[in-house]
Amino acid sequence: MVNVNGRVAIVTGGSRGIGAAIAKELAANGIKVAINYNSNSEAAEAVVQEIEQAGGEAFAAQANVSDSAQARVLVEETINKYGKLDILVNNAGITRDRTFRKITEEDWKSVIDVNLNSVYNMSTAALSHIQESDAGRIINISSIIGQAGGFGQTNYAAAKAGMIGFTKSLALELAKTGTTVNAICPGFIDTEMVQAIPDEIRAQIVAKVPARRFGLPEEIACGVLYLCQDGEYITGQQLNINGGLYM
Ligand code: NAP
Repeated sequence: MVNVNGRVAIVTGGSRGIGAAIAKELAANGIKVAINYNSNSEAAEAVVQEIEQAGGEAFAAQANVSDSAQARVLVEETINKYGKLDILVNNAGITRDRTFRKITEEDWKSVIDVNLNSVYNMSTAALSHIQESDAGRIINISSIIGQAGGFGQTNYAAAKAGMIGFTKSLALELAKTGTTVNAICPGFIDTEMVQAIPDEIRAQIVAKVPARRFGLPEEIACGVLYLCQDGEYITGQQLNINGGLYM
C-alpha cells in the first residue's frame, strides 16, 4: 500500500459533483490538491474552504483544460505551489446531448475538446513531473456511456471511449516506470450533470440499474483513492462503479 500522505494531486473540474468529492477524499487522506475549475470560482473556493476546515491543503486554480496553454499553466501553478506532482485526475467534463441528426458541429467539438482533448493537454503537461514520483498516477474519469453507448450521446460516447483507449495505450507505455494509468467508468451518479436529465428519463434509468439507485460522487472518490493507495499493480484498467448497470 502506498503512503499517500504528502502527495500532490490535480483534480480537473474539482469544483463540483464527482470532482469535488474526489478532491475532498484525497485531501482527507493527506494529499495536497489543486482544485481546477473553469468558470465557477465560488464553488471551487467553497471546496477549498471545506478541505482547509477539515485540516487539509488545497487551492483553487482556474483553467479551461480544453486549451493546451491553460493546461500547462495549471500544471506550472501546482508545481510552484507544492513543488511536485504525483497524481493527475482527469475529471472535467460536459455533455451536449442531442440525437445525431440534431447535433451541431459545435456540440461535437466542444464535447470532444473538454472531455478528451483535455486529457491529452493535461497528461502531456504533467507527465514529466508525474514520472519523478515513485507512485505516479493518472486516473481518467470516463463513463459507462463510453462502454455501452448512450442515446443522444454520440459526441460524449466518442470522447469517453477515446479516454479508455488513451488509458490503455499510455498504461502500456508507462508500465515499466511505476506510473499507472487507469480509467474509472461511473454509471449514473447524482450530480448536476444527471440532475439536468428530465425526471421521467431519470426514473427510467433508475429502473434499469440493478442497485435501483443513482451512485454517489463519494463512491467514485473511493475508487480514485483506491487506485492511488492500493493500485500499484493495476494499470490500463477500467474500474466500473455503476450499481451493476454494465458488466
Ligand atoms: P458536473 O457536476 O457538471 O461538474 C463538472 C466539473 O467540470 C465542474 O467542476 C466544471 O467547472 C468542470 N469543467 C467543465 N468544463 C471545464 C473546462 N473546460 N475546464 C475545466 N473544468 C471544466 O459533472 P460531474 O457529474 O461531476 O462529472 C464529472 C466527470 O464525471 C465528467 O467527466 C463526467 O463526464 C463524468 N461522469 C459523470 C457521470 C454522472 O452520472 N454524473 C457519469 C459518468 C461519468 P465549472 O463549474 O467551473 O465550469
